[in-house]
Amino acid sequence: MDFLSATLSRVKPSPTIAVSTKAQELKAAGHDVIGLGAGEPDFDTPKNIAEAGIAAIRAGKTRYTAPDGIIELKQAICAKLKRDNGLDYVPAQVSVGTGGKQILYNALMATLNPGDEVVIPAPYWVSYPDMVLLAGGEPVVAAATLEDDFKLSPAALEAAITPKTKWFIFNSPSNPTGAGYSRAELKALTDVLLRHPHVWVMTDDMYEHLAYDGFEFCTPAQVEPALYDRTLTCNGVSKAYAMTGWRIGYAAGPEHLIAAMRKIQSQSTSNPCTISQWAAVEALNGPHDFIDSNNAIFKRRRDLVVSMLREIDGVACPVPEGAFYVYPSIAGLIGKTSAAGTLIDTDEAFATALLEEAGVAVVFGAAFGLSPNFRISYATSDDTLKEACTRIQTFCKGLS
Ligand code: PLP
Repeated sequence: MDFLSATLSRVKPSPTIAVSTKAQELKAAGHDVIGLGAGEPDFDTPKNIAEAGIAAIRAGKTRYTAPDGIIELKQAICAKLKRDNGLDYVPAQVSVGTGGKQILYNALMATLNPGDEVVIPAPYWVSYPDMVLLAGGEPVVAAATLEDDFKLSPAALEAAITPKTKWFIFNSPSNPTGAGYSRAELKALTDVLLRHPHVWVMTDDMYEHLAYDGFEFCTPAQVEPALYDRTLTCNGVSKAYAMTGWRIGYAAGPEHLIAAMRKIQSQSTSNPCTISQWAAVEALNGPHDFIDSNNAIFKRRRDLVVSMLREIDGVACPVPEGAFYVYPSIAGLIGKTSAAGTLIDTDEAFATALLEEAGVAVVFGAAFGLSPNFRISYATSDDTLKEACTRIQTFCKGLS
C-alpha cells in the first residue's frame, strides 16, 4: 500500500512473536499446546529489585530523566563493566535505553547510511537483519554451522567483510543456539577485525550471566583492547535478572557514538522508564547470588532437553554453553512424511506439523537464518519440558 513507507516493506514481523501468538490462539481455542517459543525466564524479578521499583514510585521518582539515563544507573553500569569485564568506562560513554533492543536499534539508526553493510553470523537473533534494514543498511549473513558448534570461523568472518562493512554484530552466548565463544575462539575473530580498521564491533552480551559448566564469558573489547575505540558493548537486565517487562538495556562505547544515540532517543522515546531505571540500579549494585541458583535450574533443564532430543534418530543437538535455548538440526528428518500426511520438506513444515499434530510450539530455523533446525526455549518447568520432549520424540518416531 502506497501509504506505508518503502522502508517498512523491507522488513518482516518478528517470527518468534508470531509463533507465541499462534500457540496462544490455539490454547485459547481449547487445544492442548505447549509453548517453547518464549525468549524469557519463567522466574519472577528478584524481590529486592522489584522493591526498589516500588520505593522509587513511593519516593516520587516518577518524572522524566535525562534521555539516556540517570547518573546513578550509568555509574552502576560503569562499575559492572569494570567488575565483570575489566573494562573502563565513564558515564558519558554509557547509554541506557528501553531494553537491549532499543539500544541496538539506536546504534544502527545513528550510524548506517544506504549501502552500508553489517556482518551478522547465522543463526542470528531474529531482530538483527530487520533492524539493519529498517536503518537503511544491508545485512550480510555469515554462516556458523553445526559442524563448528554454531560458532563463526575466522575465515567466514574474513570472507564476509567488504570495504562497505560498517559493523560486525557479535552475540555470545547466542540466541538461538546458546553457543558461547571461549576466549581463544573470540580472539581468533578479533584478530581478523584488527586487519580491518574500518569495521566496528557491536557486541550483544545479553546472555553474559547465563552460562553453565564453568564457561567463562568474555567480550571483544576485553579480549582485544585495541578494539576498544570501535566497540559498542551492549547488555541489559532483561534475561539474567528476569526483568524482561521492565525494559532496560544499555551500551558503553566511544562518546561521539553515545551522543549520537542520545540524539535519536531524545527525539523518539525520551528516556527509558524512570521507575525501571531505579530498579536496574538495584539489580546491578545489589546481591547476585540468585543468578547461581537460577543457573543451576537452567543447566538441569538444558541437560534434560539435550538428552531427550539426542534419543531421536535424525536429530543432532550440540550441548550449548549458555543462554536458555537449544537449536537441534533435523537434517535427518527432511523428506519424511508425518503420521497425518504432511511432507517435512523444510524446518517450517516441521514446526507447523509439530504444532498442529503434537501440540508443541517451537520456532523454525529459517527464522534465524540457518536450516534445517528448530529452536527450543527451555525457560519453562521440568515437567513441561519432559512432556514436550516426549511429544517431539513420538512425533518424530511417527515420521516415515
Ligand atoms: N539481544 C538478544 C540476543 C536477545 O535474545 C534479546 C531478547 O530476546 C535482546 C537482545 C533484547 O532484549 P530486551 O528485552 O532487553 O530488549
